[in-house]
Amino acid sequence: MKLYSTNNKDLRVSFQDAVFTSLPQDGGLYMPEVIPVLDPAFIRNIQQYSLQDIAFHVASALIGDDIPAADLKAIIAEAINFDAPVKFLDAEQAVLELFHGPSFAFKDFGARFMSRVMGYFSKQGDQLLDVLVATSGDTGGAVALGFLGVEGTRVTILYPKGKVSKVQEDQLTTNGKNIRALEVDGTFDDCQTLVKTAFNDETLNKELRLTSANSINIARLIPQTFYYFWAYAQLRSQGAQDVVFTVPSGNFGNIGAGLLAYKMGLPVKHFVAGTNINDTVPRFLQNGKYAPKPSTQTLANAMDVGNPSNWVRIQDLFGQDLDAIRAVVSSYTYTDEETKLGMEEMYARYNYVACPHTAIAYLAAKQYRKEHEGNYASVFLSTAHPCKFPDAITAEAFQAIELPAEAIALAQKERLVSKIDVDYDGFKSYLLMNK
Ligand SMILES: *Cc1c(COP(=O)(O)O)cnc(C)c1O
Repeated sequence: MKLYSTNNKDLRVSFQDAVFTSLPQDGGLYMPEVIPVLDPAFIRNIQQYSLQDIAFHVASALIGDDIPAADLKAIIAEAINFDAPVKFLDAEQAVLELFHGPSFAFKDFGARFMSRVMGYFSKQGDQLLDVLVATSGDTGGAVALGFLGVEGTRVTILYPKGKVSKVQEDQLTTNGKNIRALEVDGTFDDCQTLVKTAFNDETLNKELRLTSANSINIARLIPQTFYYFWAYAQLRSQGAQDVVFTVPSGNFGNIGAGLLAYKMGLPVKHFVAGTNINDTVPRFLQNGKYAPKPSTQTLANAMDVGNPSNWVRIQDLFGQDLDAIRAVVSSYTYTDEETKLGMEEMYARYNYVACPHTAIAYLAAKQYRKEHEGNYASVFLSTAHPCKFPDAITAEAFQAIELPAEAIALAQKERLVSKIDVDYDGFKSYLLMNK
């Protein structure tokens, strides 16, 4: 597999280089040089395959011989070791639950696959790989639990004090082993600035082999295509033909993977992006002007993104043709008030407790259905378990949540956390003194 930069199509790097650098230096994003189209017979017979079979088929089409088949199979068996079930709420509407991994969010797919690919490419005798991550909640948990115990790697997670939920903090701080949690007396932006400063610090980079677990890493995008194929396989087994996917979107990595799957030959009728009031993409689809804004805080805080970094990938996939994108992607925006009503409606009507991100997808799927009648299965993606967002959920609905056994077990474990101020020199000396 070779990749180019969306800012320079003449550039070519290997899969391994794209994984370790995350971003080309020209500020673009890596894209596969060739988007392989899967054998139609594979799609026709897709209901015969397991999630892991599908993942292997799709990943090997993309990655080619950069990872030999037996090794890729082993990586997938370890990384994708949990299900992503499609559940019908009524005759037309289904939810694809992506929260059955260790951090109870869809980011487990990306983080677990990426961690094992990085471990695989880190040869014996290489210097320890130091992964630095700033998190507002969901990314950190997926990365921590994804890298936990992966040989040759160490993860340092920075999170803002008092701004992550209890389950999220348990996931960040109870791991030990190769995972370290730093509670920063500041905001998420402060955490991000500390991490960015470290990446640009030459003396630090001489001492440590630093890498980011950035959400735009190509090794996070690839495994997110798997569950679109797997959902389609499940729907076909249940007799559905046409499918519309609705994706709660912030940085547009999740829906970007869906659109990559579509370009690889997955027969999807349409994609719908649901956003909170951070509506840069919906405005762009409407008026053709890409005008990012600073992000605004909402209930669906994993989608508080003012300038979605994966959007350039989607434009690249469609050759910068806005009308071609509009033919496949619609989008709708919801306020916190509407999101709350959506969560209440799901609970009242279906006895389904959803996180706020999922509720936005539910609302967007409903809106699309209202505007486009027809005989198709409407599948919205549930990106996180509701137990991670207690403040967004009514007390009554929260009572009805069945806490995953793993969440209960984590709460019993001791938290191991170091506290730092928003002070780069302090952060740097922590890293150097704890080499
Ligand atoms: C990260 C996240 C999203 C947004 O996904 P993108 O790929 O950034 O669009 C949605 N919901 C939850 C729960 C998340 O953690």
